[in-house]
Amino acid sequence: MRAAVFRGPGEPLSIERVPDPSPEPGDLVLRVQGCGICGSDLHMSEQRMPPGMVMGHEYAGEVVEVGPEAAAGGWRTGERVCALPLAGCGRCVHCHAGNVHFCQAARSFGLGQAAGGYAEYVLAGAAESFRLPEALDGVQGALVEPLAVGLHIVGAARLRAGDNVLVIGAGPVGVAATLWARHFGAREIGVSDPVAGRRELAGRQGATFEIDPGSQEVLPAFEARAGGPPSVILECVGVPGMIQAAFDAAPPQGRVVIAGVCIERDSILPLGAVAKELSVRFAAYYNKTDFAYALDMLASGRVDPSGLITDVIGLAELPAAFESLRRPTSQCKVVVDPCRG
Ligand SMILES: [Zn+2]
Ligand SMILES: [Zn+2]
Repeated sequence: MRAAVFRGPGEPLSIERVPDPSPEPGDLVLRVQGCGICGSDLHMSEQRMPPGMVMGHEYAGEVVEVGPEAAAGGWRTGERVCALPLAGCGRCVHCHAGNVHFCQAARSFGLGQAAGGYAEYVLAGAAESFRLPEALDGVQGALVEPLAVGLHIVGAARLRAGDNVLVIGAGPVGVAATLWARHFGAREIGVSDPVAGRRELAGRQGATFEIDPGSQEVLPAFEARAGGPPSVILECVGVPGMIQAAFDAAPPQGRVVIAGVCIERDSILPLGAVAKELSVRFAAYYNKTDFAYALDMLASGRVDPSGLITDVIGLAELPAAFESLRRPTSQCKVVVDPCRG
């Protein structure tokens, strides 16, 4: 099959012929119909991704081969699915709770272990797969994963109707969190991002106002618009200094969720967070319940993330598109459809 192979830091992805994936008994093989480019792919390609790896963990597609255990579970070729990019052992406490990312024996796809969805075919665990309803195509199905990320963050914040929410960062994660904050009834949702195009996108996906941290002090700007400080702060950037910024913006007993994946050392001054008795949660991935709910809301039209997809490209266009996303951009979710071109 054709795939976009990571060759090393600083090198563009390379379109090559690689062996087709071979399924384990509980796996499905999918013909990829959509695979989103994720900011974490860009980060991992700078230092942690093994050369020779195929990335891409936000995928949906048509089942073309079914492992024997998956077949016994009722899976058939021709079905269309989206899937967590993880296949758990199915027996441990974490798998039973749907928290497959905590399973010690989990295999991951597109995250540096087994090949992912920047390819014509990809594996998925049948137990981690969800059938797509007729109304959703593969490109839309690829949105379920990033939507589940945002949903998990809002869940970690224990968001309640009427909360005032500050979202720091309007990349795909921040915008997905914004969409769910709106869905669950936040009163004011202020989104801070230095890139104008990203702020506008957050506005279209549910932000009630936008803050430019390049020209405005974030907290005073929030208070001026919302009439008070945010009760919930969602940090969706992941560079040094952001955790402190989130703490500084929080009121007494505020709820802070750190979702930005910072891969450098960062320092905080705990004093303010202690004095304000902040509740601080870190959030990563999603559980199977998040995935199922995000898919349901997408399929029923109760969330409309159509603004999230800013481009759909073929596999041949992926290397150039991937490199262009390294620079500040107003692109949000770029989805690869390997069937194109
Ligand atoms: Zn991702
Ligand atoms: Zn397990």
